[in-house]
Amino acid sequence: MWPGSVAIGVIGGTATAPLMAPLSEPVPVTDELLALASPVTPTEVFRFAAPCRCNACIHFGDAKCGLAERLTRTLEPVTDELPSCSIRPRCRWWQQEGEAACRRCPQVVTDNFNPSAEMLAAVCGENPSSELLAAVLRSATSSG
Ligand code: SF4
Repeated sequence: MWPGSVAIGVIGGTATAPLMAPLSEPVPVTDELLALASPVTPTEVFRFAAPCRCNACIHFGDAKCGLAERLTRTLEPVTDELPSCSIRPRCRWWQQEGEAACRRCPQVVTDNFNPSAEMLAAVCGENPSSELLAAVLRSATSSG
């Protein structure tokens, strides 16, 4: 478990258009919480958040989150209104990209088995490193 991880939403929508329903409070990640997802993987059921790892993350560079920047630039908003969110005051995406990130955020899921071309571009960028591609492939094939 990643220290400080919390569940912030439950994944709904469809296989081709997943959509997170936010939880009113962040829920600390425990073995008991993860077990609630059985028989599927926790990332298929929950959206998790964790403290930014900054330079230890493959998406981080030039003192910013490249994932948040690409998501905001590439994806269409899925809501006109600012969605409710239990972690907004401490969210890096919010601090960096503001409302534009939040209006795209609910469509972001960890296990996206049928990502759109736009989502792939947002996650991988235009010239993804082999390290990033391998990480995305691991996520897309981790159906447990
Ligand atoms: S981008 Fe916005 S909606 Fe998404 S986790 Fe951050 S503050 Fe919440």
